[in-house]
Amino acid sequence: MDRYVYDFTAGGRDMADLLGGKGANLAEMTRMGLPVPPGFTVTTEACRAFLAAGTEPDGLAREISDHLTVLEEAAGRRLGQPDDPLLLSVRSGARFSMPGMMETILDIGLGDESVLGLAKSSGNERFAWDSYRRLVQMFGSTVMRVDSTLFENALARLKDASGAADDLGLDAADLAGLVEIHKELIRQETGEYFPQSPAEQLRRAVLAVFESWNGERARLYRRREHIPDDLGTAVNVQTMVFGNRGPDSGSGVAFTRDPATGRPGLYGDYLSNAQGEDVVAGIRNTVPLTDLEHLDPPSYTQLRDHLRTLESHYRDLCDIEFTIERGRLWMLQTRVGKRTAEAAFAIAAELVDEDLITPVEALARVSGDGLARLMFPRFDTSAVGHALAHGIPASPGAAVGAAVFDSAEAVRRAAAGEKVVLVRQETTPDDLPGMVAAQAVLTSRGGKTSHAAVVARGMGKVCVCGAEDMTVDTQGRRFTVGATTVEEGTVISVDGTEGAVYPGAAPLVDSAVMRYFETGGQGERSDELVDAVARAMQQADGVRRLGVRANADTPEDAARARRFGAEGIGLCRTEHMFLGDRRQLVEAMILARTDADRERALDALLPLQRQDFIGILEAMDGLPVTIRLLDPPLHEFLPDRTELAVRLAAAEAHGTPPSAHDAELLDAVNRMHEENPMLGLRGVRLGLVAPGLVAMQVRAIAEAVVERKRAGGDPRAEIMVPLIDTVEELRIVREEVEQVLAGVSKASGVPVECPVGTMIELPRAALTAGQIAAEAEFFSFGTNDLTQTTWGFSRDDVEAAFFSAYLDKGIFKVSPFETIDRDGVGRLVHIAVAEGRAARPDLKIGVCGEHGGDPDSVHFFHGVGLDYVSCSPFRVPVARLEAGRAAL
Ligand code: PEP
Ligand code: MG
Repeated sequence: MDRYVYDFTAGGRDMADLLGGKGANLAEMTRMGLPVPPGFTVTTEACRAFLAAGTEPDGLAREISDHLTVLEEAAGRRLGQPDDPLLLSVRSGARFSMPGMMETILDIGLGDESVLGLAKSSGNERFAWDSYRRLVQMFGSTVMRVDSTLFENALARLKDASGAADDLGLDAADLAGLVEIHKELIRQETGEYFPQSPAEQLRRAVLAVFESWNGERARLYRRREHIPDDLGTAVNVQTMVFGNRGPDSGSGVAFTRDPATGRPGLYGDYLSNAQGEDVVAGIRNTVPLTDLEHLDPPSYTQLRDHLRTLESHYRDLCDIEFTIERGRLWMLQTRVGKRTAEAAFAIAAELVDEDLITPVEALARVSGDGLARLMFPRFDTSAVGHALAHGIPASPGAAVGAAVFDSAEAVRRAAAGEKVVLVRQETTPDDLPGMVAAQAVLTSRGGKTSHAAVVARGMGKVCVCGAEDMTVDTQGRRFTVGATTVEEGTVISVDGTEGAVYPGAAPLVDSAVMRYFETGGQGERSDELVDAVARAMQQADGVRRLGVRANADTPEDAARARRFGAEGIGLCRTEHMFLGDRRQLVEAMILARTDADRERALDALLPLQRQDFIGILEAMDGLPVTIRLLDPPLHEFLPDRTELAVRLAAAEAHGTPPSAHDAELLDAVNRMHEENPMLGLRGVRLGLVAPGLVAMQVRAIAEAVVERKRAGGDPRAEIMVPLIDTVEELRIVREEVEQVLAGVSKASGVPVECPVGTMIELPRAALTAGQIAAEAEFFSFGTNDLTQTTWGFSRDDVEAAFFSAYLDKGIFKVSPFETIDRDGVGRLVHIAVAEGRAARPDLKIGVCGEHGGDPDSVHFFHGVGLDYVSCSPFRVPVARLEAGRAAL
C-alpha cells in the first residue's frame, strides 16, 4: 500500500519529488539536528490521488491520525486540548517553490473552549484571541471560501472604532469580539458553522491545500515558470511556534549571502512580535536582520551559526524562515535560495574560491537566461538627475513605463502595447497577472523578502520595494512623494539595481558585461561581476562540444558576432542585401521581359553582392561563412499590391494618365500574387524558375573568395540552398553552382572550393535526409520553417492570433517557435541527423533557426549530436554558456 505521510525524521533533501521542496528540507534540517518544530509531511502522491479522484485517498485519514498521535505524545498535549492545546500549521510545499501561490492555515486546533485554555496556559489572553482570530479568518477564506476582504473590512472597522493605529492596538476583548464577527460572517456566507472539532479542521485544511494546487494564481505562476501541472503539492503539518508572543519573540527571513549581488554576509529582515506571514506579506516594515544582534544577541549568534552550517551543508546560498518564541530560535524553512542573475554568477565564482564547489558545478549554477539579463542596459545615473524616490533594490535592471495602480489596468494597457510599471503599496498573489504584464514593480512597503520582491526576482522583472517616501493612493490612481504627485499614465523609470525611481524616461547605458563581450572578452575584468561571468564563459568554452556560430548578414554584425565568440556564420541571409536602394535593381530583374534585360539587371546586382561578401568574409576570415541563396518570394521586393492599385485608381480619378511603370508593376504583382506565399514560389524553387539568379549569387560569392585570397585572406564560404523538399532540387542547383565555381576558378586562376549544403526546413526533407545527404556536404536545420510546416502554424500570424489561448489552456507551455518542440519537430531533427549521417558519415550538421539561441533548445541540439548552433550575435554568449552546460 502507498505510504502517504512521512514524519520529518523520516525524510531527506533528496525526496523533494515526494515531499515537496519544503518538506524535504524540513526533514533534512531535522536530521542535521537544527531546531525544527516537529511535524510531518503529506506527500505529493496523496495530492495527486486526491485531485484525480476528487476524494481523499483510502488510508490517508488514518495515516494522518497516526502521525498526529506521535506528535501529541511527544508534545505531551493533544491537538486542541481544552486546557493547553497543541496547535498546528498546515502549509503547502510543492517540488518547485511557488511563493505565496497556495494556501497556508495557522493555529489549527483552536476553538471556543481551547482559546480559553491557551489564554491561561500562555498567560496571555490577547495572544490567544489573536491566534483564534487568525485561524477563523484564514480557515474562513481558504477552506470555506468566504471572500477575504469581508474579514479584512471587519478588522479595519474594528480598528477605526477603537482608534487603534494597527493590529497591536487591539486588546483581547476587541479580538474576542472580532472572532464572533468572523464566525458570524462565515455562517452568513456559507450557511455553515466554523468547525470546532480540531480533527475536522486539520482534515479540511489539508484538503484545501491540495485544492489550492489548481487555484488560478497557482496555475498562472506555473505557466510563467514552466512548472508542470501534474506534480501536485505536499502538505506540511507542523507544531506551531509563535513569533507574536511579545517583544522577546519575532519572525524573520534570512539569506546566507546577499541574494541581489551575491556578496557574502548575513542578509534578511526581522519583525519583532510578529508571525512569519507578517514579514512575507510586508504588512509592517521590517528591520534589517543585523538589528537582531542588539535585540537578542544569543538568538542572533545561534542563527548565524545555523546559517553557516546550512551553507556548508547545501554548498549554496540558502534562505531560511525563522521564528523566535520567547527567546528560543526555531527554523521553519530552508531552501537553496532564489537569486538574481548577478548573484548567481558571483556566488558560483565565490564558492569555487571557497573550495565548496568545483568549477564544473559552478557552471551548472549559472544560466544563459541569467547571462542575457546581465547584458541589458542600465540607467545612465550621471544623466538622470534627482531621484523621485528611493526604495530597496529588490530585483535589478532598468525599466521605463507608465505608472499604473492595479493589476487589471496593467494587463489592459500592456495588451494594448503600452509599457507599464505596476505601483502598489504592497503586492499580493492577486497582483500576479499585473506583475507579469508590467516592465517593473514598485511598492511603498515591504522588504527584500516581501511578495513583490520575491516574485519579481523569480521572473527577472525589475523591482523596487519599500519606497517609504512614496504614498500610494490606489483609489485616486496616483502616488505622491513630498510635493510631487504622479498620476496614472505618467512615465517613470525604475532602477532595480540601485533602488531608485526617476521621473520620465531615463537614458540607458550598456552593461559592464556587454562591454566585456563587445571588447571580445579582452576588456577589463576589474568588475567582480564581469570576472565571474568571464570565468563561467571560460569553463563553458572548455567543456562544450557544440560549436557556436552567428546569423549575420552585414560585415558589422559579423565582426560583432566574432567579438562575442562566434566561430563562424551559420546563416547569412542574402535577401537582406536586396533591400534599400537595391530594390530597384531587383525590381528590374523581376520585370525583365527579355534575357538581355534580365542579364543587365543581374549584372548590376553582381558587384554589389560581391562587395557584401568580401566584407563578411573579411570579418570572419579563417572561419566558415554559410551563405544562403535567395529565399523569400520575389513579390516581397515589389510594392504592396493594394497600395499600387490605389495609386493607379487615384491617378485615374484625377484624370492623370497612370504611370506606365506603375501599370507594369501592378501587372507583375498580380501575376506573382500568391495566397500562401510562405508555401509558394520561394527558396530553392525560385532558383529553379528565375533564370540567372543562382548563377549571379554564386558568382558573387566565388569572386569574393578570389578577391579575399588575392588579398592574403583565408575565406571559407559555404553555399547553402534553402527550402529543399527533394534531393532532385538540390541536384540541379548543385550542378549549376559547381559550374559557376569551376568557371570562376578557371577564369581567375585561383581555386575556389565551396562546400555546398542545404537547409533542412521542411518535413519531407527531414524524412528523406538520407537521400539528400548524397548531394549535400552539410545540413542546417531551419527550425523556424520546420516548426511552421510541421505544426501547420503560420510563423507570421499565429503567435498574435491564438497562442495566448493555447498557453492558457496548457496545450503548450511555451511557443514552439521559441523553444524547440522535442516530440514533433525534434523527432524530425533526430531522423534527419541519423539518416543523413548514415548516408554520409562526415556530414556537418547545424541549426540556424531562432532556436539556436534558446537555452533549452541548445541542450536538445547538443543531445541530438549537432555540430553547431547558429543564432543572432547577441545570443552568441548565451549559446556558448548553454552549450557548455549541456555538456556537463
Ligand atoms: C528557418 O526557417 O529556420 C531559417 C533559418 O530560415 P528563415 O528564418 O530565413 O526562413
Ligand atoms: Mg527558413
